[in-house]
Amino acid sequence: MAQQQTMEICTTISEVRQALKGVSHTPVGAVLTMGALHDGHLALVRQAREECQTVVASIYVNPTQFGDQTDLAAYPRGVQEDLRVLREEGVGLVFMPTDAEMYPPGFDTWVEPGKIAEPLEGVHRPGHFRGVCTVVLKLFNALRPDRSYFGQKDAQQIMVIRHMAEDLALGVEIVAVPTVRERDGLALSSRNAKMRFEERQAAPVLYRALCLAQELALRGQRDADTVREAMQECIAAEPLASIDYVSVADVETLEELTGIDRPALASLAVRIGETRLIDNVLLT
Ligand code: AMP
Repeated sequence: MAQQQTMEICTTISEVRQALKGVSHTPVGAVLTMGALHDGHLALVRQAREECQTVVASIYVNPTQFGDQTDLAAYPRGVQEDLRVLREEGVGLVFMPTDAEMYPPGFDTWVEPGKIAEPLEGVHRPGHFRGVCTVVLKLFNALRPDRSYFGQKDAQQIMVIRHMAEDLALGVEIVAVPTVRERDGLALSSRNAKMRFEERQAAPVLYRALCLAQELALRGQRDADTVREAMQECIAAEPLASIDYVSVADVETLEELTGIDRPALASLAVRIGETRLIDNVLLT
C-alpha cells in the first residue's frame, strides 16, 4: 500500500551517515538506482520494504560506468518525479550525491572485478563493471546496508557485485529481484522511453528470443549452439534490431556452454535503433 511519510534527502556522505547513525530499525536495505524510476525499480523498493525495517534508496547516474559519453548525456533524468514516487512507496531516506561528492578532485582508487566481469557486457562495454563496482562499493560504504536489492534483468551485474561483496567481505547480502516486464514481455528499463514508436513495437523481440530458448530447452534441446542460433534467427527477423551478443552460458561462471547439461543463463544485448537493451532468462 502506498504510504505518505517524511522522507529525508541527503546529498553528502557525511549527511547520510549522520542520518543513518541513529537508526535502530534494522536490517537496513539499500536500493541503488540511476533514477528515471519505473516499476522495475519499485519492485526492488517493495521487496526491501517487506524485508527491512529501514529502506534507503540512492539516485546517482554514475559517469564512470558509461564508456560512451553521448549515452551518459542522453540518460533519462527526472528527479522530482523520482522523489515523489519514492515518498509514496514509504522510503525513509534518499541519497542523491553529486559527481563532486562521489568523485572529488584527485579521486584515484578503483575496484577491478575479475573473470566474471569479462564476458558479455564486459566485452561490449569495457570498463563498465569497474565503474559499477567502484560506485557500488562507495555507496555501500556511505550507507552501510545489511542488504542491497538488485534486479535480475542485469544478471551479470548481480554476479559481479556478489563476487565483490564476498571477496572483499563487505557484509552486505545481495538480494536478486525477478525482472519486471511490460505486458508484451519487454523488460522495464529507463532506456525504453528513448525509443520511437516503431522501435518500441520491435523491442519485445528480445523476450521472444529468450522464450524461444526456454521452450527449446524445455523440449529437451541440449545443444547450446542450436539454441543460440534459434535466438539469433528470431532477432534477425526484426529489421530494426541488431545483435551485440546472444549467449547461453553457465549460470555460475558465465562461460559459454557447448551442451546445456547444467543450469544455464540465456542472455542477450540487442540494439533497437540507437537504444541498447539487455535481457536474460534462466534455462533449466
Ligand atoms: P538502474 O537505475 O538501471 O541502474 O537500475 C537500478 C536497479 O534496478 C538495478 O539493480 C537494476 O537491475 C534494477 N532494475 C532495472 N530494471 C529492472 C526490471 N525491469 N526489473 C527488475 N529490476 C530492474
